[in-house]
Amino acid sequence: MTAALEAAEVGYRVILVEKEAYLGGRVVRMYQYFPKMCPPTCGFEVNTRRIRRNPRITVHTLATVDAISGSAGSFKAKIKIKPRYVTGEHSLDDSMTEGLTSERTNDFNYGMDKTKALYLPHDMAYPPVYVLDREALSDADAKKISEVCPPGAVDLDMKEEEIEVEVGAVIVATGWRPYDAAKLDNLGFGRCQNVITNVMMERLAARGGPTGGEIVRPSDGKKAANVAFVQCAGSRDEKHLPYCSAVCCMGSLKQARYVREKNEEAKVTIFYIDIRTVGRLEKFYYEMLEDTNVSCVKGKVGKITEDPETKDLILDVEDTLSADKLHRGFDMVVLATGIVPNTADVKIPFDLSYDEYGFIDGSTNIEGIYAAGCAKRPCDVSRSTKDSTAAALKAIQCLNNRK
Ligand code: SF4
Repeated sequence: MTAALEAAEVGYRVILVEKEAYLGGRVVRMYQYFPKMCPPTCGFEVNTRRIRRNPRITVHTLATVDAISGSAGSFKAKIKIKPRYVTGEHSLDDSMTEGLTSERTNDFNYGMDKTKALYLPHDMAYPPVYVLDREALSDADAKKISEVCPPGAVDLDMKEEEIEVEVGAVIVATGWRPYDAAKLDNLGFGRCQNVITNVMMERLAARGGPTGGEIVRPSDGKKAANVAFVQCAGSRDEKHLPYCSAVCCMGSLKQARYVREKNEEAKVTIFYIDIRTVGRLEKFYYEMLEDTNVSCVKGKVGKITEDPETKDLILDVEDTLSADKLHRGFDMVVLATGIVPNTADVKIPFDLSYDEYGFIDGSTNIEGIYAAGCAKRPCDVSRSTKDSTAAALKAIQCLNNRK
C-alpha cells in the first residue's frame, strides 16, 4: 500500500494486486504495533482513504500475478482474479447473513473461530465488500441469500477472470507467513490446547478477535493468569529457520504488556536465547523488566507437556545462567514463531534470485523489479514501509530514465 501510494501520489498509475479479499496483509490482524502501541487500523484508515481518493490506483483483491514477461519499461503481467461472488453494487450487512447456517473457518483470526459463509473479512476491511465462500455455502443458504440480499448483490455464477496489463516496473511486496508451529514437535502446538502462537495472541487481544479482546485459554475460556512466552520457536534452529526472525523478541515483550494490561494479577515469563531489541525499542524492554510480574529466563525450552485433567502446561527448560533444570507450570504458552517469506513457497513468475530460505536477494538483480519488506528479509512494519518508499523511488527512477 505504501509503495502504491508513493508512486501514485507523484503522478504514476499503479495496479495493486492483493491475493486476500482485503488490503493490509498481516498488519491489520495485529492488536497494536510499535512504536506507538496503537492499533494498526489508525494508519490503515489513512492509507485506505488516500487509495480511495486516488484515481491512479487500481486495486485488484483475490488476485495473483501468474506470469510476467518483458523487461524494464515494458513488462506484461497476467493477473488472475478469483470470484468474490459479491458484486459490490449494493451494500450488504449482517442482518442479511444472520439467518445463514453455513459457516467457514475464519482465517483472519487464525482459525480460532468461524464466520458465516457470506462475510465481511473484518470491521475495517478495504474494499468494504462482503465475500462469499462458495464451497462452504449450502443449497438452502444459497436460496436464503437470493431472498434476503438485494437483487444483483450476489452472483453465485461469478467466474474467475484473467486480465493482462502492461507496466513499466514491478514492486514485489509479497510479505510473510508465520512458521508452521506444528513442525515443532517438542513444543506441543496442536497437541496441547493452551499452546498458541504469537500471531494468534494478536487476535486474542484484539477487540475484533474471537474473544472480543479477552486473553483467555482456548481449553476452558478462563482468563490467562500465568503465561509463558517461548522465544525463537523455530527461528535460529538449523532444523527449522536458521536465521533470526528479527521481530519476535519485541513481539513477545509487546504481548507481555497486553497480558499485564488486561489482567493486573497476571504473571508473565519469557524464555529466551537472547533478547534482541534494536535501537530505541530497547527502552521498551527495560520498561517491561521493571514490572515485577514479568520475568525473563535465559534458556531454550526443551519440552512442553499438558496435564490431561487441567490442560495446564509443564515446561522443561535449563536456565543457562544458573544451570538449574526447571520444570515449571503455566496456564497458557505463546510460541514466538518466526517469519517465513511467502516467496519460500510461491515464487514470483520471473527469473529472480532467492537466498536459501526463499527471501528475494537484495533488491533483485533485474532492472525494473524491486522487492520490499519481508520479501527481502524479516523486518518490522516501520522498516517495511521505509523499504516500500525506497522501492517506489527505484521504480520511478527506472521509468524516468526511459523517458
Ligand atoms: Fe529469536 Fe528474538 Fe530473533 Fe525472534 S527476534 S528469532 S525470538 S532472537
